[in-house]
Amino acid sequence: MNNLLALNWKMNKTPTEAKAWAEEVRSGLHQSYADLAVLAPALNLPTLAAELPSSVAFGAQDISEHESGAYTGEISGAMLKDVGARYAIVGHSERREYHGETDANVAAKAAQAQASSLTPIVCVGEGLDVRERGEHVAYTLAQLRGSLEGVGADVVVAYEPVWAIGTGKTATADDAEEMAAAIRELLSEFYAGQADSIRVLYGGSVKPENIAEICGKPSVNGALVGGASLKAADVLAMNEAL
Ligand code: PEP
Repeated sequence: MNNLLALNWKMNKTPTEAKAWAEEVRSGLHQSYADLAVLAPALNLPTLAAELPSSVAFGAQDISEHESGAYTGEISGAMLKDVGARYAIVGHSERREYHGETDANVAAKAAQAQASSLTPIVCVGEGLDVRERGEHVAYTLAQLRGSLEGVGADVVVAYEPVWAIGTGKTATADDAEEMAAAIRELLSEFYAGQADSIRVLYGGSVKPENIAEICGKPSVNGALVGGASLKAADVLAMNEAL
């Protein structure tokens, strides 16, 4: 299965900056060694639809758990689909922490994404306290069970230990493999017969220098990248490394 290089811009880039980034990627991307997807602020999606090469997918960083209606400020799956989005991140640790999203919210968002034929990228991962107690596998699997309740098999799972996001601290490739293998077992239980086509990503301070080692592990099928996604040159280097 091809690696997925999923790029989470977070709250960065105006549409003008997004256009410049897309132009740089378009002129520098001679071959895709992974499937590429840009997860951008929703306002940038029409720009990305116009400017990205057709081989690069794009999507949102969040999605409403409702179909439509009186939910001021929210963006629906149908809106995202209409501009050509393919993916939506759900349950990023920043949404869980700063917006109080629960596993049930995350599962509802993932189900809404699928109802609009978008693939949800479901994020899970433990904080430092949990890791230090050695409870990271049990914690992350419990979070994943809750976040996949009622969600179909057209899903990507991203393991992102919270202590490694934006901190420069990367889990070792063996840490990533330990969790990805455990996640894969849970997926086999949840989606018997379909689990082999589900990608499990690692995220947390991934950059051009470490992506090959992490994604070279047998249970890891790509990366969710924050900080290093902002410079087109780094993205091209990560693609080349895969
Ligand atoms: C993220 O936000 O999903 C992430 C992994 O960020 P960073 O690569 O900056 O750690």
